[in-house]
Amino acid sequence: MTVRHDHWIGGKAAAPAGGSYLPTLDPSTREPGDEIAAGSPVDVDRAVTDAAAAQPQWARRSGAERGELLHRVADVIDAHAAELMELERVATGKIATQLRFEVEQSAAYFRYYAGVVRARHGRTIDLGGGSHTYTRLEPYGVVAAITPWNLPLNQACRALAPALAAGNAVVVKPSELTSISTVRLARLASEAGLPDGLFNVVTGTGPEVGTPLAADPRVGRVTFTGSVATGRHLARIAADRLVPATLELGGKSPLVVFADADLDRAAAAAVSTVATNSGQVCSATTRLLVEASVHDELVARVVAAVERLTPGVDFGPIITEAQYRKVLDFFARTLASGLRPATGGAAYADGPGAKGLYIRPTVYAGVAPHLPVAREEVFGPVLVTLPFEGEDEALALANDSEYGLVGSVWSGDVARGLRLAERIEAGQVAVNGGPLTVETPFGGYKASGYGREKGIEALHEYARVKTVSLSLY
Ligand code: NAD
Repeated sequence: MTVRHDHWIGGKAAAPAGGSYLPTLDPSTREPGDEIAAGSPVDVDRAVTDAAAAQPQWARRSGAERGELLHRVADVIDAHAAELMELERVATGKIATQLRFEVEQSAAYFRYYAGVVRARHGRTIDLGGGSHTYTRLEPYGVVAAITPWNLPLNQACRALAPALAAGNAVVVKPSELTSISTVRLARLASEAGLPDGLFNVVTGTGPEVGTPLAADPRVGRVTFTGSVATGRHLARIAADRLVPATLELGGKSPLVVFADADLDRAAAAAVSTVATNSGQVCSATTRLLVEASVHDELVARVVAAVERLTPGVDFGPIITEAQYRKVLDFFARTLASGLRPATGGAAYADGPGAKGLYIRPTVYAGVAPHLPVAREEVFGPVLVTLPFEGEDEALALANDSEYGLVGSVWSGDVARGLRLAERIEAGQVAVNGGPLTVETPFGGYKASGYGREKGIEALHEYARVKTVSLSLY
């Protein structure tokens, strides 16, 4: 039987004012799932009203008190991990290891900000005798968080945890494809003792919910993860209202491999790029740049490894029929330009992959850098490889992109790895597989957006600095 999921507003389930619901779909089977409330500007208004009412009292609590409640949200995520993983699974078709990672990391955001908020402070400024001058870190009030479908709960928690820790109330507008886990978490957080009105969820489409939310005059900051087009639209709304925005947008990130690298590990990183969420990851390093002397050898290893990947076991499906068609269309356009894939380049005609929206992991080898497949974000399991000669060409190719989210460099010469890291235009660079975690700030250069999530930086993003100065005479 189809279950209907309402909004979560002011600590309660709230039926949509318009009375209608939207369908969802399990992309691994193409079967219909539960329904979600089709939100409207009326629902947004209710949520922002409740958030604005709850926030001042929350902001007056100490960092330690807020942190204590955030720890409880982390505990409740851990305690309900299996249920949250299952809600994500039916919405996205992801494989179990990926689901576990995302839910564990969701709890980790709350634990991290529960801790670091206690160590956050303003500063005193020494202006000589006669005055006492200091800064206060004050919340924005109500934060609007508009999140995508590719890591649904995880990306909601990435925004919620620091925004709440800094003393804000939050209204989340999750993707209409994957809202149910976020609504469920809001209920669990209320049951764990998070005061009503601090964590609200209004589900529905971007135009009906996301736009009015960002435009609401009581919203003090907008945080968005998603496509460049929607990011530009929301940034314009924020600019008109003169409120700040954090934008985490797309990517076409480089994975640079020198001949002296550990080729086994570099090949594994390239395979993981294709397999993880079927490439539907903003930080996927989908341009494999390889020093010419080892290009063919490395590509052969990567191709052999991706051909061993099994749909539903090693990687999940594409999220929607529309995105599935878009990836297949990319294949058709690439073929029309004369380029054949080294492997993949099609959906599954039979077997388990044909039941859901699965696409064969695909590698295009030796691609000219001007081709669309080497420049545009596909958001599917598609890797392009480009050979280079020497450090300068590697760097030029790495930076030859409108995006700048992530860089990955593999070399036996660590100094060279760090030289590249200095010069790659991206918000984060991993050398030889260095970890990027909840603690490490994350965000874009160029068309990948601006502002930083994660790390202590995100806590600062959700607060504004006030200077107070007192004359002692
Ligand atoms: P999208 O921009 O279509 O949707 C993202 C969110 O914005 C959803 O909640 C959607 O309902 C909402 N939205 C859509 N149109 C809107 C409008 N007119 N007004 C207000 N809200 C609107 O993106 P998507 O398809 O969900 O995600 C895929 C894209 O997101 C890819 O390009 C990917 O690179 C990017 N992405 C980036 C990151 C990151 O951290 N940088 C993470 C995940 C996805």
